[in-house]
Amino acid sequence: MSLNRAIRRAAEGQRLDVGEARVLYATAPTHLLGQLADRQRARRHPDGIVTYIIDRNVNYTNVCVARCSFCAFYRPVGSAEGYVLSFDEIFRKIDETIAVGGGQLLLQGGHNPDVPLQWYEDLFRAVKERYPEFRLHALSPPEVIHISRLSGLPVPAVIQRLIAAGLDSIPGGGAEILVDRVRKLLHCYGKATADEWLDVMRQAHRNGLRTTATMMYGTVETPDERLEHLLRLRELQDETGGFTAFITWSYQPDHTELSGVEATGVEYLRTLAIARLVLDNFDNVQASWVTQGGKVGQLSLAFGANDMGSVMIEENVVRAAGASYCMDEVEIVRNIEDAGFVPKRRNMHYEVLGEPFCRHADVPRMHALATAKAAGEAGVPEDLLKYPARSREGKAARGQRGG
Ligand code: SF4
Repeated sequence: MSLNRAIRRAAEGQRLDVGEARVLYATAPTHLLGQLADRQRARRHPDGIVTYIIDRNVNYTNVCVARCSFCAFYRPVGSAEGYVLSFDEIFRKIDETIAVGGGQLLLQGGHNPDVPLQWYEDLFRAVKERYPEFRLHALSPPEVIHISRLSGLPVPAVIQRLIAAGLDSIPGGGAEILVDRVRKLLHCYGKATADEWLDVMRQAHRNGLRTTATMMYGTVETPDERLEHLLRLRELQDETGGFTAFITWSYQPDHTELSGVEATGVEYLRTLAIARLVLDNFDNVQASWVTQGGKVGQLSLAFGANDMGSVMIEENVVRAAGASYCMDEVEIVRNIEDAGFVPKRRNMHYEVLGEPFCRHADVPRMHALATAKAAGEAGVPEDLLKYPARSREGKAARGQRGG
């Protein structure tokens, strides 16, 4: 495959095959790859608008039976550091989110065997009753599969019940690399195979939900396996059209069992650019400044990204693995404008809501990210005790038989 031919086809906005993507990713100069991705971004977003959302990333539990080797966030069942948030704590986080102009929670957590489907349904209903306009972007595909296994219900039935309770959209977490060889090496094959992850998204799209798609690179995968991941997403998008956006970030190695070193900023920008070029049926590509820092995040806007993701109010997962970048709305808007773009607030469907909230409201500046729980705080809230537990430890704690 000649590089020149691949460059010409990318410049014309033609669909790239795997050979063309491979030669571009491996050998095109970085600035040229950026230019090609930027041209592709401009075809979809000629108005120069760069969006962001004000929401809050809440992790309702850190207890997880999946034990992925790249994860520094989870705690095993029975750990003294394990927690589940109470409904009241979640309501308080929603109140704080609304106060800074937010309208959505990104709600994800570990695969906790002692949190049954009914808990999620009751939580979603309670949120919608208290905050009818508030949106729930919740439960990545592996969590949906976990709930399906716990409840004994098939995935489509779980999705339908969650939608009936108030689920608005599914985040694309837990995809890592959608190649089973990699998933086995990362100990995440058991939580969801590549096909299972994709099928949850297929079912969600069939049931009318829009979702995002992600890729975490930089562990044990080859460049070809990253491209295979992108091509599988493109194929499903051709089938359903249900993905709103794609987000990629590099593996964060600190405090993980897998350990290793983090990919560089250049590798991030090249990966972002090739994703924009391969995913020709995705409208939106997000910059991951939370893992890459504000400056590389800003540079992402010249490498194919048209969205700055979320104003970060709370973060627990990548912080546990060493990344702790923070930008409030004022800072995100400044970065977008300095890069020559027009900042606009959006909703979960990437529809523009309007001007920056901070332009017409006195928003408190946030220089410290909130966490789900302060160090030393953990445990099971009162309101969880009425639900049946599955683990021996959970049953014993709730005084249920069979522990
Ligand atoms: S990545 Fe998610 S599923 Fe894997 S161990 Fe961490 S919390 Fe559990």
